[in-house]
Amino acid sequence: MLLPELRRQVLEANLELVRRGLVLFTFGNASGISREKGLVVIKPSGVPYEKMKSADLVVTDLNGKIVEGKLRPSSDLPTHLILYKAFPGIGGVSHTHSEYATAWAQARRSIPCFGTTHADTFHGPVPVTAELKDPEISEDYEANTGHAIVRTFRDIDYAAIPGVLVANHAPFVWGPDAMTSAHNAAVLEFVARMAYFTLGINAQAGAIGRSLHDKHFLRKHGKDAYYGQPKEKK
Ligand SMILES: [Zn+2]
Repeated sequence: MLLPELRRQVLEANLELVRRGLVLFTFGNASGISREKGLVVIKPSGVPYEKMKSADLVVTDLNGKIVEGKLRPSSDLPTHLILYKAFPGIGGVSHTHSEYATAWAQARRSIPCFGTTHADTFHGPVPVTAELKDPEISEDYEANTGHAIVRTFRDIDYAAIPGVLVANHAPFVWGPDAMTSAHNAAVLEFVARMAYFTLGINAQAGAIGRSLHDKHFLRKHGKDAYYGQPKEKK
C-alpha cells in the first residue's frame, strides 16, 4: 500500500473532524499531500466515518487521477487539488460544514478578528469568497470553488490566514499537515461562534487593535515566535 503514514494521518484528521463535532453525517473531508511524491490522500466519497479504514482512503495525483484505491474519492477532491497547486506551503486541507463558520459563509460575511483567540491562529479577518457565477456552478463546480478561494487570497498570505469561507457554502481550512488543518477547522468554528456572540452583546464591537493582533499571531508563528517550549515545532 502506498503512503501508509500519510494514510494514517489523513484518517486521523478525518476522525478528528467528527470528534470535534465539525461534521454531520458525511458533510466534510480531509486530505493530505506528499510533496515529494506529488500524491494526495483523501477521504473516499460517502463512506461513514465509523467504518472508514486507512485502506479505504484514495490516493490520487495532482490531476485527480486515481493512483491507488477502489473507492471514489471525495467529490470535493478538485477543490483540494487547486489549493495544493496554488499554495505550495500547505500539506493538508479540511472541509467541514461546521455550524457557526457555515452560518458566516451563508451570510457572506468575513469573520472580523475580535480577540486574541482568533489572532493566535488567523492573522486577520477570515475572508469570504465571491459568489460563484452560474457557468462556474454548471461546469467544473468543485475546481471553480478552488479558483474562487485562490482569487480571494490574491492579496492575502495563505500561511497567515489558513482558512476561508466559501460564499453560501462552508469553510475550507488548511495547514502544514492534515491534522493541523483539522485543528485549524476546529479553531475557526470556535472563533466563528464567539464572533457571533460578540456581535450579539455589542453590534458595534470593533476588531482587535493591530498591536494586540500582531503580538498574538507573531508570538506563535514566524521567526520571532516564542510561545511553547524551545524545541516544540508548532
Ligand atoms: Zn461542502
